[in-house]
Amino acid sequence: MKKIILIIMLLFITGCNKEIKKEVTYKEKITIKIGEEVPSLEDYITSDYDESCTIEWTNIDLEDNKIYTAGIYEGKLKIVDRDVTVNLEVIDDVAPTIENVKDITITVGDKIDLLKGITVTDNSRDEMDISISEESIYDINKVGTYNIEVIAKDNSNNISKKVFKLIVKEKVIPQEQVKDIPNVPDIDLSGTTTKGYQINRIDGIYYVNGILIANKTYALPSTYNPGGLRSEFMTAFNKMKEAAKNDGVTITIISGYRSYSYQKALYDGYVKTYGKAMTDTFSARPGNSEHQSGLAADLNRIDDNFGNTKEGKWLDLNASKYGFILRYPKGKQSITGYKYEPWHFRYIGDEAANLYQNGEWTTLEEYLGIDSKYQS
Ligand SMILES: [Zn+2]
Repeated sequence: MKKIILIIMLLFITGCNKEIKKEVTYKEKITIKIGEEVPSLEDYITSDYDESCTIEWTNIDLEDNKIYTAGIYEGKLKIVDRDVTVNLEVIDDVAPTIENVKDITITVGDKIDLLKGITVTDNSRDEMDISISEESIYDINKVGTYNIEVIAKDNSNNISKKVFKLIVKEKVIPQEQVKDIPNVPDIDLSGTTTKGYQINRIDGIYYVNGILIANKTYALPSTYNPGGLRSEFMTAFNKMKEAAKNDGVTITIISGYRSYSYQKALYDGYVKTYGKAMTDTFSARPGNSEHQSGLAADLNRIDDNFGNTKEGKWLDLNASKYGFILRYPKGKQSITGYKYEPWHFRYIGDEAANLYQNGEWTTLEEYLGIDSKYQS
């Protein structure tokens, strides 16, 4: 009696392979990538076996025998008298694809959905995590060109990034909306500069060595209105533009003359949002903007990086030959009162050549020996 039981036991322990009477061995885990065929029984069993071995996936809904969500899935391997657990690990190492990323242009203060229209596709069926990176510094209330980085992430932390430009343009304020304007305080700053030049005031406008000055110290009167960019600016600009074109470089004016009333509306708008101290670091007060002179313009693109572009480099190298100066050079904020503006050029005529020597700009303030500081 004892002998018979022993024989039956042996049969069960050897598993489903009755013929060879050997233990069935198997792999506990197989790893595949998303979208690959789910392994079959043969792939798990490493010894001989017969049909009495089966595998069943307990937590997978199979579609075309493929899996589209990363994770670890359990299977039950049935070897005649016992059930064992095997695992299927599905990994995803493919990053999502971000599409329909385009530059966006808005007007100061416009509300904007930066992710609108952007689509993300992925090899997985995960819900994509789409966001704007924290490194994307922008301000819809401030004129400028900002780099915006879109990040898409799937559940396996595969990340894709794409960059587009957000261009915030200044608001055009219709003349009829501009209210009464108080005049600039009448303090006469005539005299001699530290470089020995005469400061003359003619019709409320300051000239040093014959050069009209509009900076933080010397304001233009509210009544000064050339009505647009002055003819001497335009004549020189057209020559420069032609020369640039011959070098395969396109130069355009994006913001030229701005009236006192326009600048006032712009400045007052900024003050409401940022307060006076902050606004003074990036926007001129009415009367103190060089754009009111009709002798200055912003070219091509308001972008801190413009100086590194083909157009920015061409202008830096050649503008002085046509009577223009880069008005707010890099590292001269304490002198000009403005941070580096690679796009802002001022026409001063022949003397421009003296301000650009060996690839370095001297500021108009240094050259003439004048200040650029608000009195209050
Ligand atoms: Zn400007």
